[in-house]
Amino acid sequence: MPQTLLITGASRGIGAATAILAASQDWQVAVNYASNSLAADGVVRQIRAAGGVAIAVQADVSIEADVLRLFETVDAKLGRLDGLVNNAGVVDLAQRVDEMSVSRLSRMWATNITSSFMCAAQAVRRMSTKYGGNGGAIVNVSSVASRLGSPAQYVDYAASKAAIDTFTLGLAKEVASEGIRVNAVRPGIIDTDIHASGGDPGRAARMAAQLPLQRAGTADEIAQAILWLLSDQASYTTGTLLDVAGGR
Ligand code: NAD
Repeated sequence: MPQTLLITGASRGIGAATAILAASQDWQVAVNYASNSLAADGVVRQIRAAGGVAIAVQADVSIEADVLRLFETVDAKLGRLDGLVNNAGVVDLAQRVDEMSVSRLSRMWATNITSSFMCAAQAVRRMSTKYGGNGGAIVNVSSVASRLGSPAQYVDYAASKAAIDTFTLGLAKEVASEGIRVNAVRPGIIDTDIHASGGDPGRAARMAAQLPLQRAGTADEIAQAILWLLSDQASYTTGTLLDVAGGR
């Protein structure tokens, strides 16, 4: 019997790679996207062409009403939820802390932190044995930025990921006795479009030579770690922050 997985921000990058890999491992996948329906439909088409089950669901996960509608849509179309990947996230342009506006900070906290709390809350209400659920797994996508701080680039982003690390530790303990495991993956420099979105499209290529493994990672290498944490093979792993960062 296939299990149901919701991945936020899954129309491209790490989220898309995770959706495609999950579908090949017998998960039926809800591909959440904020605005690029063409890209999300492309991920769904690719999954279906390989014989998998997937739907695309639009929702801005920083908005509560969208999150509620997202989970209700998954309930209606795919049935009982078994897994959640809190993947949606943003970086902003490189700035020092003394240059950052409050509106920038508010967007960063809402998109990278509040969204993960809201989605996890909905997932717990569906998966926890306390609510009559069958248990499940949550994987939060953090970053090694949480322990590096990202000075003169985006300390706000690094701090948002530190919040995700602590959120992972706390929630894991909160729901451990209710059948839910909660872990985080902390990627290093991964070759996706997030760097271009932060105004620095050449970042992954430029940083490659400074990394211990001498190259940026791929979205698929992060997806492999996420799928392991979601799987029964990780049945004794909870509250873990797994660095997948090429030694960085
Ligand atoms: P990406 O920009 O390709 O993917 C992020 C996705 O999140 C995009 O599809 C975007 O549209 C979506 N998103 C953003 N705000 C959203 C919202 N409010 N609602 C719904 N979706 C939203 O980048 P990626 O590299 O694949 O990033 C995925 C995750 O990995 C992020 O949380 C990011 O912080 C983290 N990460 C990436 C790297 C890296 O080097 N690429 C390193 C460490 C951590």
